[in-house]
Amino acid sequence: MSDTLYIDGEWRASTTGDTREIHCPADGSLVDVVAEADAADTEAAIAAARRAFDDGDWRATPAAERGDLLLRVADEIDSRRDEFVRAETLDTGKRPYESDLDMTDIANCFRYFGKLAADDAGRVVDAGSPDADSRIVYEPVGVCGLITPWNYPLLQAAWKIAPALAAGNTFVLKPAELTPHTSILITRVLADLGLPRGVANLVLGAGATAGAPLSSHRDVDLVSFTGGLATGRVIAREAAATVKKVALELGGKNPNVVFADACDTDERLAASVDNALNAAFLHSGQVCSAGARLVIEESAHDRFVDELVRRAEEIRLGLPFDEATETGPLISRAHRDKVHAYVEQARTDGATIRTGGAFATGDHGAGSLDDGWFYLPTVIDRADRSMACVHDEAFGPTVTVETFTDEDQAVAIANDTEYGLAGAVWSSDAARARRIAARLRHGTVWVNDFGPYLPQAEWGGFGHSGVGRELGPSGLAEYREAKHVYENLRPGVTGWFADRGSAQ
Ligand code: NAD
Repeated sequence: MSDTLYIDGEWRASTTGDTREIHCPADGSLVDVVAEADAADTEAAIAAARRAFDDGDWRATPAAERGDLLLRVADEIDSRRDEFVRAETLDTGKRPYESDLDMTDIANCFRYFGKLAADDAGRVVDAGSPDADSRIVYEPVGVCGLITPWNYPLLQAAWKIAPALAAGNTFVLKPAELTPHTSILITRVLADLGLPRGVANLVLGAGATAGAPLSSHRDVDLVSFTGGLATGRVIAREAAATVKKVALELGGKNPNVVFADACDTDERLAASVDNALNAAFLHSGQVCSAGARLVIEESAHDRFVDELVRRAEEIRLGLPFDEATETGPLISRAHRDKVHAYVEQARTDGATIRTGGAFATGDHGAGSLDDGWFYLPTVIDRADRSMACVHDEAFGPTVTVETFTDEDQAVAIANDTEYGLAGAVWSSDAARARRIAARLRHGTVWVNDFGPYLPQAEWGGFGHSGVGRELGPSGLAEYREAKHVYENLRPGVTGWFADRGSAQ
């Protein structure tokens, strides 16, 4: 299908007629052919969103009604669950079970912002005088450019679409070019639910062409981007010329700090290793908050890493619809090559590849991997902070292992990253775990866990992991302007400048 751009309430092909083939990364099969927009299509979408914001009714629609629409979006996702799950699975290669969990989170995100929409209409503040009233009201920012990555395509879009609509904005969504289908589906849902024309627009295509106008165009008031650090820098630079609001959710190189007292019994060892395994290898490590840096107390290193390697070697890679599959492929050949280059560099730098370190091919537990972009779960032991594998986000199934001998060293290692998205501390000493959690410079800190996030809790990064927050009340605030309205209830002459009567 090539009429896959949604601009001003109409499904369209691109103006150039260009299309893009979408292939499943697990087996290379052709999923679909979609429209490939260029800058002219995106400019048309921006113009539609501008008209809908300036001249339409959406921003003046009562917040409760906007919220109600979001609740109905959540219900639609639930009732069309199979369609959404299949689309996400074919685009990303993740198994349907994972896609289904994503859809639950996505529906919950729409419900959260649906309920929040009418919750907070502003506040009254002390005007400093009995003859004045002063209040803060919230208004939508305007036209929002929403740019999303391929690892959690609809989840990342939902974190933006739901608060943008709750606040009364209009938007142009530009999903990652490799994974457009759930963005098409959610746009259909919005159209079917009667969202006014021009409020939601969808453009598909490459970032440098279809995406770029969303950061540079003067009619876009806010750009919210989730993706890599290098792209985030380009977007921030482009956005500066028109001083638009910028929200950036970038990468992470997230430390998972494990004290020996978190693995000093068989039960604790099993729990902390199991969680370290999930942290590193869930979705084959293509997770911005992946625990790709294991920071382990030296005295526990051997037993912990031996067990981690054993478990990593048992992970079943496979095709998404095979029931036995535990995790899937990387998104593309280029991405797999990038991950492998980091591993090779780590080898050259003197780290020890304990397991993995190669493409996964042939039959590996659950079907042939030869036509997909699979990479073996990889444990890079005895890494240190001088190595690129420790600093750079490989965004694949690799975990580096560093050791520490005391709390200060653990904190120093965990905070030695340009990023600051998420981190975890594992200890059976509750006070120690708290001490460490308080010192970690990361936007999310887990204690004796790794991974949970909640729609009502802010998500975002310290340092180069980004600017701003998604989810939680701050996630809605990103899409609102605060306006101070001051009313003088007894207007009169101020006497600041003397009236010298020169007119008489
Ligand atoms: P990417 O930066 O390559 O692309 C992200 C999006 O930006 C895509 O839609 C792409 O087409 C678009 N884009 C690229 N160049 C552009 C430009 N010049 N102007 C406008 N848009 C442009 O990232 P990716 O490879 O798709 O995603 C992986 C990255 O996303 C990782 O670094 C990961 O950590 C990050 N991520 C972060 C979070 C978070 O919450 N912090 C969540 C998911 C992913």
